[in-house]
Amino acid sequence: METMKLVHQHADEMIAIRRHLHQYPELSNEEFKTTELIKEKLIEYGVEVVDIGMNTGVLGLLRGGKPGKTVAIREDIDALPMAELADIPYRSTVENVCHSCGHDIHTAVLLSAAKALVQVKDELCGNVLFLFQPAEEKGMGAKQFIEKKFYEVSKPDSFIGLHVSPEYPAGSIGLKRGPANASNDFFHIKVSGKGGHGAHPENCIDPIAISAYIITQLQTVISRENHPVYPAVMTIGAIHAGKAPNIIPDFVEMSGTLRSLDFASREKMMTAIERITKCGAEALRGSAEIWWEEGMPPLVNDDDVIERLRTAANETIGADHIIDVKNPSLGSEDFSCLFPRFAPGAQFRLGTGNDIDPNTRHGIHNSKNTFDDSCIEAGAGVIVQYARNFLK
Ligand SMILES: [Zn+2]
Ligand SMILES: [Zn+2]
Repeated sequence: METMKLVHQHADEMIAIRRHLHQYPELSNEEFKTTELIKEKLIEYGVEVVDIGMNTGVLGLLRGGKPGKTVAIREDIDALPMAELADIPYRSTVENVCHSCGHDIHTAVLLSAAKALVQVKDELCGNVLFLFQPAEEKGMGAKQFIEKKFYEVSKPDSFIGLHVSPEYPAGSIGLKRGPANASNDFFHIKVSGKGGHGAHPENCIDPIAISAYIITQLQTVISRENHPVYPAVMTIGAIHAGKAPNIIPDFVEMSGTLRSLDFASREKMMTAIERITKCGAEALRGSAEIWWEEGMPPLVNDDDVIERLRTAANETIGADHIIDVKNPSLGSEDFSCLFPRFAPGAQFRLGTGNDIDPNTRHGIHNSKNTFDDSCIEAGAGVIVQYARNFLK
């Protein structure tokens, strides 16, 4: 059967599931009821639920009729710690928790794809792995799948997934070759000096003056060291020191974020930040320590996977509904922990806006945004077609 007919058969069911998830959103690593619902549905559809020891999140496996390669499809399932202000009948019932990043739609898309692929499993040469990933908003869920060795269940040969995009119309998808999202690393710095009376700096080593110097010099990493064709952002978002105008404190603590669209540029800038921080403090008689919170690499789509997605979209939603995404985003996405590390991969955008309701255009992480969930069919259609083509 044609893919769009397959997914259309259960379109109403998937919209109902999505709206149920929307009413009962759960925060990162607390997706217990969501996990139960996914497991229940996968078992009902005929997908094997593989227990790899995750607290939340689900790994599903579908074996095709003949042996072959493995397509891994990943979607995230968690909600955000914010109130919902959208005027919809299925509004969030949980105070200060809402699916304003559209992960309820992602979950429904993957369930829809699972149900459709079961119906054609005899024609598939190979396996499909379904990763319902927890804790994307905290950048933790992809790493949890890796810790639990999901890849030992069936080694992926291709990784795909999607993310909602209110700026594009429902029924369409967006494709971006190459860099699509930035890396995201947090760093913490402690600058130590020697405290004392504010009237006698000659007897002290002022960590505030040192920190001010370090902060201004750190921006030269972006403007003077990084190759300008690789966009990057560094922000010091927190700085804490001192309690009184006439006391030089002993130390200053600050933290920041570094974002980059290129693997090598990211490494180079991390090294430069460490050098400037330590040497800058020493030049002014102080010392500095720096430590990194392991973040996520840039999300760089594989060109071949993008072209296969284009083919799948042409065969399902049609060329008129494919948008070429021009610019990458400096936002991050922890799907980048899974590809290209385990297989070539790509993430595409799924339009959720429409011209009738302006509330569908506020954007993600906006408490008023409404998502046009008629998009689920398009998202599932492209994914199912991709898997059918890849496992032909
Ligand atoms: Zn988000
Ligand atoms: Zn998201």
